[in-house]
Amino acid sequence: MNSTENINYEDLRAYREINLSNLKHNLLQIESLLNNNCKVMAVVKADAYGHGAVEVSKYLQSLGIMHFAVACIDEAIELRKAGIVGEILVLGYTPTSRKKDLIYYNISQTIVDINYAKELCENEGILDVHIKLDTGMNRLGTKIEDIEELIEIYKNEKLNIKGTFSHLSRADSLLEEDVNFTNSQIDKFYKIIDILEKSNIDVGKIHLQSSYGITNYKNLKCDLVRPGIILYGVSSIPYDKTLDELSLKPVLSLKTKIASVKVIHESETVGYGNNFTSNRDMKIAVATIGYADGYPRGLSRYDFKVLINGHVAKIIGNICMDQMILDVSNIENLKIGDTVTLIGEDKGGYISIDAISEVTNTINNETLTAIGKRVSKIYIK
Ligand SMILES: *Cc1c(COP(=O)(O)O)cnc(C)c1O
Repeated sequence: MNSTENINYEDLRAYREINLSNLKHNLLQIESLLNNNCKVMAVVKADAYGHGAVEVSKYLQSLGIMHFAVACIDEAIELRKAGIVGEILVLGYTPTSRKKDLIYYNISQTIVDINYAKELCENEGILDVHIKLDTGMNRLGTKIEDIEELIEIYKNEKLNIKGTFSHLSRADSLLEEDVNFTNSQIDKFYKIIDILEKSNIDVGKIHLQSSYGITNYKNLKCDLVRPGIILYGVSSIPYDKTLDELSLKPVLSLKTKIASVKVIHESETVGYGNNFTSNRDMKIAVATIGYADGYPRGLSRYDFKVLINGHVAKIIGNICMDQMILDVSNIENLKIGDTVTLIGEDKGGYISIDAISEVTNTINNETLTAIGKRVSKIYIK
């Protein structure tokens, strides 16, 4: 299913084409913004935002990437078993009952707060950790009022401190209020690092920026950055212009097949419900993808379009769980098995992921990670 060679496109139902050259291009673009000693910690959580965590991480490893971040321990173990040798950091919470697995697989765990650190230290073994500081997002991380207790955590011999980090919650916005807030997060972070270092504590590698932090807050002194969405070549916010300087290239295309073509007469309805009625004789086609594959049902009835052989076809009726129906009246020579492009380029035509996320009122991160298990992954270079 995930093979790179000898792909038989005829066999596929619905698939995402993952362009590894574009991934490399995006990585080089990101690296061009970094100071000399700063390295990329590739964020490959949620199956690398739907691009396939194992394949993406292996490819990035072949390009020299030595730090990876995931959301949970099982994602980390999957990568270790697949041969990822660099550091793998779990950004989220791991139950302390799984400390043994963290140690066995040599995984770094985020210290989500002081109580968690204490609990982890109750169990046997020395664990690699990154300490997370809460600088204002109020999600995970230790509040900075607890400085004395925090110092105790750094000094605990059961924790091997590999890094210290925080997360910016509004780095994507250039509104004055948000920029001020972000700068206050950055100031807090470096102040606490300073206090810790003056107390002779080794804070390990420091890191603060995810995608928008990298582009909107350049030249921060740090050892790592944590790009996710921009590695995959798209913005979070649909049609966001703030990333334009990077000339990112989308890595993922989404495609499916034509299963059936038929002609219907004027005044016939199509699909579930009766919200589409033909106003003329028309040629329609069934495509083999639906909302269970992550293609949002919310696109139904927005005159949303797909591409077939370079032509535009409109989605009609409600998108079903496993299929959807297209108006192909204007497409000649349409054959069963022809490719339908839902995201990406087709003979000069192009449909961006932004178009989907805008209509469904979400961010590209969600559209990408919603793509379902049944959608095969094909890797091209
Ligand atoms: C998801 C995540 C990232 C990556 O975020 P992007 O906006 O996709 O770059 C970085 N750091 C943390 C803590 C995250 O949870």
